This record gives sequence, C-alpha cells and structure tokens, in this order.
Amino acid sequence: MNTQLSRITAAGLTLVMVHLPCMASLAQSPLSPAPAASTQPLHDYLQKPYLELFEIAPTVTFTSTDVTAERQALKQGENSCRDRFKDHTKQYGRQVDQARTELKKGGEALDNTARHDLHCRIQNLEQLRSEAEVLAGQAIPNAYDNLGAKLDLLLLWPEQYRKAQSELASGTHQQRRWADVKDIGFRDIAGRQQDDIKTGQQAVDELKRTGLLPPAVESKPIQEYVKSVADRVAQHSDLKVPLHVTVLQSREINAFALPGGYLFIERGLLEQVDDEAELAGVIAHEIAHDTARHGHKLMKRATIAGIFYQAAQIAAVVLTGGVAGIGMYYALQYGFYGLGMVLSLKLLGISRDFELEADQLGIQYAWNSGYDTTGFVRFFDKIATKAGYINGASWFRTHPPFFERMFASQREMMFLPKERDQIVQTSEFLEMKKQLAPVVAAAQKEEKEKPSLLLGKEEGCTPPPKLEYKPGQPIETLCATPLRPAVVTETASGCE
Ligand SMILES: [Zn+2]
Repeated sequence: MNTQLSRITAAGLTLVMVHLPCMASLAQSPLSPAPAASTQPLHDYLQKPYLELFEIAPTVTFTSTDVTAERQALKQGENSCRDRFKDHTKQYGRQVDQARTELKKGGEALDNTARHDLHCRIQNLEQLRSEAEVLAGQAIPNAYDNLGAKLDLLLLWPEQYRKAQSELASGTHQQRRWADVKDIGFRDIAGRQQDDIKTGQQAVDELKRTGLLPPAVESKPIQEYVKSVADRVAQHSDLKVPLHVTVLQSREINAFALPGGYLFIERGLLEQVDDEAELAGVIAHEIAHDTARHGHKLMKRATIAGIFYQAAQIAAVVLTGGVAGIGMYYALQYGFYGLGMVLSLKLLGISRDFELEADQLGIQYAWNSGYDTTGFVRFFDKIATKAGYINGASWFRTHPPFFERMFASQREMMFLPKERDQIVQTSEFLEMKKQLAPVVAAAQKEEKEKPSLLLGKEEGCTPPPKLEYKPGQPIETLCATPLRPAVVTETASGCE
C-alpha cells in the first residue's frame, strides 16, 4: 500500500505533509461529559460545517418544541422563498407579454431605437424569468435540503455514533458491505468493468459530436497534475480498466466519470478545491462510480441514443439562441447546468443507493491512497455552504445532500484502520493553483469580450442587473431579493 507515496516522501522532495489527528480523537470519547441543553438557537447550528456538527451533536440537546419549530420554520421558509420566485417568474412573463404587445402595436411606425429597446427588454425579461425559474426549481430546494440534512444530523447522529462505536468495539463493523479494505484492488465489486469501455467511448464520441463536451484546458501542467492525482487514487482502488483523465474548460463546479474509466474534471471544480485531499476525495468518489459500474446498471434503463437525443435537443436550443422552458438560457450562461445536468440525470443518475456506495468506496480509495479521508465531506460542505446553492447547483443535482450520506461517510471513516499520516496538502497542488489563475482569468476575459450566442439575438443590450450573491450568504438573504427591473435606467432605484 502507498508505495508511490512513500517513495515520494522517502525522497523527501515535494510533498507537503499535514498531519491530522486520527478520527478517533476527533470524535467524542466515551468519557465526554453528558450532553447539555443548547444555549444557542438551533437555527445557528445549521450554518456550521458537517464535520463540526458531527463533533457537536453528541454534546448538545434540544427541546422537542425547538425542533418542531425549526422544522416548521424550514418548511415555511422554503415554501415562501419558492413562491416568491415563482411569482417573479409569472410577473416577468406578464412583462414579456406586455412588451410583445407594444412591439406589435408599434409595428412599422416604431423607430429603430424604440424597436431596439423593446427587443432588449424582452431579452432581459426572458433572462430574468429563467433565472427565477432555476432558483425556484433548483437552488432554493437544494439550500433547504442541506439545512434539513444538518438538522437531522444534529438530532440523529448521537444515537448513530453510539451504535457505530459499539460495532467497532465488538468487531461487527467487519460485517459491513465492502469491509475487506485490505484487499482493495483484488475485490470484485460489480463484475467486468472492461465491458463498459465501449459504452464510455461511445458516450465520449457522442458528446464531442453534439458539441456538448467543452474543450480541454490548454495547460499541460494542470492536465498532468490532475492526472497524477487520479492515477494515484486509481492505483489504490478497485478500478481494473485504464483511466482517461481530462480537465475541461468549463466554469461548472463538477466532475463526472463516464463508464469504462473516462473521468472528466471541470475547471470550476479546480477553482473550488482548497487542498489535494478534497480533490482526491472527489476523484475517488467518481472512480467508485466506475468500479461499482453504476453507469452500466443505469444503462439498462436508458439507451445512449435516448440520452443524446435529449442532449442534442438542448444543444440545438442553445445554438439557435432559442429559450428552453426550464431556465436553460440563464442556467447555461451562469454555469448552473451545462454538461453535468444533461449527463447526470439520465446517464449518471441520481440514486441514493449508488451515491451511498460511491461515498463508501470513494472514502476507502482516498484512505488507501494515503489521503485525509475527510476531504470529500469538506468539499461537499463547502459547495453546500460557501459556494452555495447558486454556483453548486449542478453539483447538487448529482450529489443531493441527504443526511444518510453524511452518516454513512462518517461511519466509514470511523471503521477504517487509522493511518498515521494523512495527506491534506501538497506543493504540487499549490503549483497547480498558480497555473490555474491565469487560465481562469483568460477564460473569464474571453467570456466577457465574446458574448456567447446564449446572450441572445439582440446585440448591444445592457444586461439586466445580476443577482446579488455572496459566498456563505444564508439562503434567507437570497429569498429577500426584490423583483428586479429588466432595464436599468439612470433613474431606476433597482427596487420595486
Ligand atoms: Zn456520485
């Protein structure tokens, strides 16, 4: 185990090792004081990271009145927030109708300026309407699901933690699924992975043919670095097919593996990871989807042709500048959806069972590669809480924050044999970040200078005001967003 890593460390060259205390000491010791009633409002806890909540949960108690009130508050909060943006959708729709009527009424009599202004107004309103649709349909439910998962964790983890401890003490944890971690690489997880290579290759070809696959990031050092991390994880995993790794030039915060060892990391994800353990955790999770052949299992229900017919339709809508009904216009422009959505829904699927299995195996692979196993959970949390419900929407489509996932991950981390050194950060990672900065800057500049077809048919319009959003901002702040004007004029206050 860890031959590659020990070679590197033995040579004393480049690895920046950060030593973590082992999980057992992070968790509550059996001698810890009895849980005390919390003096802090329950809602405040829901802003904390998952890892912190795992530690806090066994030490605090809440009254059932508080719990019921919080559950109700979350439910009401979600409903009113969604209703607000559904209402915005309707209002923008009405304004579009109005503008179209004006356009028709004006007919030939309209001068060029008036016509241009009306075109711009319609275009901006369509954009705002799509944005409101995405918020109501995706971002807001995600944010509240995440808060709900944190509430469940606070209430249910203490019991689960005691159970896990007694399993550990009695050795029954060795009976869990995939407990044979000393045999990673020699286990049969789900049959012949090599049968998936053809499917994966076909999917990659289709993606390229339909123009849906973003180009690769043109940076050899970045591609090589990500490949080296992925290779290291693959080498310590149950993957039995060659791994192909590509970093895509896309602002989407996502990573996905197509069947048969085709791993894609989107640039947006590299921007969001803060250390190598986080990156390795995400990669390990994706590799686990391939070792467990989840794509193959899902393909029994869908066909490549069917999936790509849908994908091609979306591409057509985008390329013709048309506006699809599901917020695609706005979504693609802001990187909400993109490739991840198209693929994930049908090809990669959202299955609780598959996600739980990929979480467990992924944590094992990260552990076996010598990484700090909390990397994946830390990344998950960051996307949920900091980069948040807006930028992380595509990630959450495929990685819903249900609390069983966090429980299962935490249990697996408790059950794995403790490693003395767990890699968190490396100098190669920091070097990659340095290489990434100009790549991101250039991509952003290009996006600005060369507005894509997504920006619409009418040129020279001032885009509508952007949604105010700060990382880490609680969802409630976003829910208070007023209806914004489609066109900002000198006198407009920006509020209605
Ligand atoms: Zn997954």
